[in-house]
Amino acid sequence: MVKTRFAPSPTGNLHIGGARTALFNYLYSKHHKGIFVLRIEDTDVERSKQEYVEDILGGLSWLGINWDEGPYYQKDRVDLYREHAFRLLGAGLAYKCYCSTEMLEEKRKKALKEGGKPHYDRTCRDLPADDVSNEGKPFVIRFKNPLSGEVSFDDLIRGTITFRCEELDDLIILRSDNTPTYNFTVVIDDALMGITHIVRGDDHINNTPRQILIYEALNYPAPRFAHVPLIHGKDKARLSKRHGATSLLEYRNEGFLPEALMNYLARLGWAHGDQEIFSQEEMIEKFDLPNVGKSPSVFDMDKLSWLNGHYMKTLPAQDIAERFLPFLEHMGISAPDRAQLVRIVMNQRERAKTLKEMAQASEYFFRDDFPVDETARTKFLTSATKPILVDFLEGFNALSSLDEEAQKPLIEGLTQKYNAKPVNIIQPIRVALCGKTVSPGIFEVIAILGKEKVGKRLTKAIESIQ
Ligand code: GLU
Repeated sequence: MVKTRFAPSPTGNLHIGGARTALFNYLYSKHHKGIFVLRIEDTDVERSKQEYVEDILGGLSWLGINWDEGPYYQKDRVDLYREHAFRLLGAGLAYKCYCSTEMLEEKRKKALKEGGKPHYDRTCRDLPADDVSNEGKPFVIRFKNPLSGEVSFDDLIRGTITFRCEELDDLIILRSDNTPTYNFTVVIDDALMGITHIVRGDDHINNTPRQILIYEALNYPAPRFAHVPLIHGKDKARLSKRHGATSLLEYRNEGFLPEALMNYLARLGWAHGDQEIFSQEEMIEKFDLPNVGKSPSVFDMDKLSWLNGHYMKTLPAQDIAERFLPFLEHMGISAPDRAQLVRIVMNQRERAKTLKEMAQASEYFFRDDFPVDETARTKFLTSATKPILVDFLEGFNALSSLDEEAQKPLIEGLTQKYNAKPVNIIQPIRVALCGKTVSPGIFEVIAILGKEKVGKRLTKAIESIQ
């Protein structure tokens, strides 16, 4: 049974990189009909914040990544980690270190100055068992790292990776304030939770040999590892706040659809031939770790927008209308007529890349005091177009239906009368009704707005022309 986990530290919001790690773990477990666990690694009390926990849970739920187990919180499990630290101590696989922070800092500086790696010099590693000189002093517990030999693991993305033990430090597993450290808690949790596969960013590669040695010391089987290359911005720098929203939920607020974001994230490092569009079921069916690339992927906002546009156009209009509502509400437009709303969505979604863009582009459907583009007004609401509007209004008032078939002859009649192209008749009407030169087809706009609104807007436009 495959069991994966996403184990974020709540020291920041859930960003694109974290969400992709969560997704890969999720897809891998679902592909193998396994279990996906969520674990919040909150042992760093100073930096962990409840607001980040909420952002992480909210972001995952919005994206559609549901966990089967958890969330577990490491701060509820501290006794377990202490117990394990003392177990290693008792077995002679860890030791108490009494070196003060100041002393360590001095040694570190000296090592750096001499061009060496600032490793702990193992002063306390072999203190005699009957040593009493340090009694009563605060201590940390350090892991007794093997002094020679190698640690190797077969990474599911990168192949075999080998480290020499002497490159690794005697790392602290329990601090002097009795709090455990990341490399230790992660091993105990992954072992006790039965995690079989760990998919995480390749910034963790250096931690893996340390963790494997702890698995061995505790006599727990180590899981398989898959280290995913990091995500870069277009400028090749590691993805940061500069490259876009900090929290995944900001993409929601900007009007992106979770289907599009999930699809985008799945393709950020993983490929299945040259297929770009995947439903969640398809991702689960096709996802596998060997198809994750070895080089960093580049975050491309244009591609995300393109995918969002695709889902805007292809998801059921009713569904888009439902998700469109909060964006209208945000603009102060509430409780629009449902049938009308769906009709607006069906017309507007061809053009809008996001729900937010669609809301901004649709204001005139809901409000009579919609903004009017000055350039459009100057160009199309002129003394030359005034008679066209007057004639159109007269003909329009006489229409008994707003079907396209009923409206068409009216426009055709005007093109003949003014010896003009349809666009020259339609644009003044469009600017009068929508305040701009771009909108869905004019017959649709008129049908959606209805007789009364169209009449009023045309009259207002006519009156505004000197
Ligand atoms: N809490 C760690 C982090 O957020 C988890 C790393 C891991 O997946 O082992 O980076």
